[in-house]
Amino acid sequence: KLFNEVQEAKGNIRVFCRCRPLNKVEMSAGCTTVVDFDAAKDGCLGILTTSGSTKKSFRFDRVYTPKDDQVDVFADASSMVISVLDGYNVCIFAYGQTGTGKTFTMEGVEQNRGVNYRTLEHLFKVSKERSETFSYDIAVSVLEVYNEQIRDLLATGPASKRLEIKQSPEGYHHVPGVVEAKVDNICDVWNVLQTGSNARAVGSNNVNEHSSRSHCMLCIMVKAKNLMNGECTKSKLWLVDLAGSERLAKTDVQGERLKEAQNINRSLSALGDVISSLAAKSSHIPYRNSKLTHLLQDSLGGDSKTLMFVQISPSDQDVGETLSSLNFATRVR
Ligand code: ADP
Ligand code: MG
Repeated sequence: KLFNEVQEAKGNIRVFCRCRPLNKVEMSAGCTTVVDFDAAKDGCLGILTTSGSTKKSFRFDRVYTPKDDQVDVFADASSMVISVLDGYNVCIFAYGQTGTGKTFTMEGVEQNRGVNYRTLEHLFKVSKERSETFSYDIAVSVLEVYNEQIRDLLATGPASKRLEIKQSPEGYHHVPGVVEAKVDNICDVWNVLQTGSNARAVGSNNVNEHSSRSHCMLCIMVKAKNLMNGECTKSKLWLVDLAGSERLAKTDVQGERLKEAQNINRSLSALGDVISSLAAKSSHIPYRNSKLTHLLQDSLGGDSKTLMFVQISPSDQDVGETLSSLNFATRVR
């Protein structure tokens, strides 16, 4: 409802900002909170900069404080995910510095699941309610983009040949050879998502570091058939946990790490460029500048719906990265 109410006036891009709580390490190190949530209900957020002497304000479609939980967050995203059953392409992604809660928001934890699981749960529920008039086929793929290379996280056996993005004659973008796991009910889902999540660890010696430098992309493909008139539609919903947006000092990185950092910068900048050129109604949208934006092409722009979570830390130690994430998010609105 939230989305549809304001959609006409504001176009198809929403930005929700979520701030995690201060963690134990920060508390014991004496870090303080620089985020002011007084106007969070109105979508406003203040950041105290330089020892609290100045305050910068930002406005988003929603602001979640550390007290808001997974249920609150999904309540606002749920109307958007349902659009995929109506034939729309949708893209939801989480942007922010490593450690700000991107994976918590998207994947969640077993006892407190995030947007990915809740989305599939909601899609099954609504498709069941509509079963007299529509039949739906739902399948999922889980991909990782690391150093501008696509990896299929649901593939079993040895890594297949290089995965490339192709465009069908109808203009549909896809990656031939990628596993599309059909999911019929919610029981299948957590297992499929865990399989994908566990596969990220394979071949890396530090799982957390690796996942903060790659984009994890869940694609939910929906085929809908209208049982009254036989009409069929095909649409997809991308749920993306982006690589960490933090900038590394040039002097700190060399070799592989430098290449990784450059690829992350390149793909996140490409994402920012695509979204801001869509917002500016530019005639050329530079989708092809990164694998990330090329994969998301069908779900960014046109009549598709986009939701960005900008994730932030409350700590004074992170204020530089927080401001840079908030500026990025402001640029896309
Ligand atoms: P990222 O994916 O952005 O690197 P994570 O999702 O791994 O960050 O979050 C870092 C840590 O903070 C995790 O232990 C996570 O459970 C915790 N966390 C993040 N957001 C929240 C939140 N809103 N409430 C409680 N814990 C959170
Ligand atoms: Mg993460």
